[in-house]
Amino acid sequence: MAEPAVAPAPAKGGVAGRRCSQCGGDVAFRPGKDAVGCKFCEHLDPIVLDPARVVVELDLDTALTTAPTGAAAEVSAGGREIECKNCGARTIVTGQATRCPFCDAAVVVEIPDDRPQILPQSVLPFGIDHKDAKAHFAKWLSSRWFAPSDLVKRSKAQGMDGMYLPYWTYDADTTTHYTGERGEHYYVTESYTDSQGKRQTRQVRKTRWYAAAGTVHVDFDDVLVCASKSLPEKLVDKLEPWDLPGLRPFDDRYLAGFGAERYAVDLEAGFARAGEKMEPGIRTAIRRDIGGDEQRIHSMDVRYANKKFKHLLLPLWISAFRYHDKVYRVTVNARTGEVSGERPWSWIKIALFTLAILAIIVGIVVLVQSNQG
Ligand SMILES: [Zn+2]
Ligand SMILES: [Zn+2]
Repeated sequence: MAEPAVAPAPAKGGVAGRRCSQCGGDVAFRPGKDAVGCKFCEHLDPIVLDPARVVVELDLDTALTTAPTGAAAEVSAGGREIECKNCGARTIVTGQATRCPFCDAAVVVEIPDDRPQILPQSVLPFGIDHKDAKAHFAKWLSSRWFAPSDLVKRSKAQGMDGMYLPYWTYDADTTTHYTGERGEHYYVTESYTDSQGKRQTRQVRKTRWYAAAGTVHVDFDDVLVCASKSLPEKLVDKLEPWDLPGLRPFDDRYLAGFGAERYAVDLEAGFARAGEKMEPGIRTAIRRDIGGDEQRIHSMDVRYANKKFKHLLLPLWISAFRYHDKVYRVTVNARTGEVSGERPWSWIKIALFTLAILAIIVGIVVLVQSNQG
């Protein structure tokens, strides 16, 4: 979604994007600068947030009635929502969008703004700009073994889209009643006959099991769940860790010039996923509570209290490109520069490499044989 620069124009009725305070031109957020910059006069308007504004967490149980919701234009000034007919991603954009940033398909349609969405409470602003993201991408690709040469060349011309990906974080205090068993080791002396036919003794470890039951309390804070379905989970997981201490209270100026995906995993489904992420922590607490040398867990009844959530937007650069009719995606964490991606393989390079290895093996065999002969 490389936006063509739009000539400064006074905002006429309806929704308008953010404007430069000097000349009224289009502005875009400047990564790492904490300011929006004008595309015409280069004027920088720093984003100064009211210190009284803090990131609020909302109550999950009452969220369906109390969470602030709004239309796309409330997430991003001048924003419209588009849907990709190929991969289904719904993205909020401000400029002209002719293709989908997630799959490179040219089949995007504008969708009516009739389904209000839960508004983000917090945003992690872009720290890495387009140029740096491309440099990370190029470095990553050049270090890939067997990448097709024409692709490496083409990637230099390939654009990258700056996108905010939707996330939820959840807090919960958990109380878990469990049943299980505690295993305690003991040793017995066994006698046996060794290979020389002599009688010997040895110590053998055994485990005695006792029934166990109890209750553990574990509190969780900011369990992160990705609310996008547009990228493979493997790519999304590789974007972590995110520097969440850098989160700011939501302000649409951070979105100026970037797209934002609408959450595809809803609040409830996201909490179910958070519960799965909490489970290993609860199991660890149960094992500690059972004690002994080994533990078995038979049942867990988890109750959640003080459930809170936040809706966040986290920044990434994405390049979706088609190569021999297949879509490949490479993402760059726009805070850390961490790159992850799908990539095509050059079968010609692999075949040549295999032949070279075979030639070396044959060479060694011939050498060894001629030395023996
Ligand atoms: Zn300006
Ligand atoms: Zn798509």
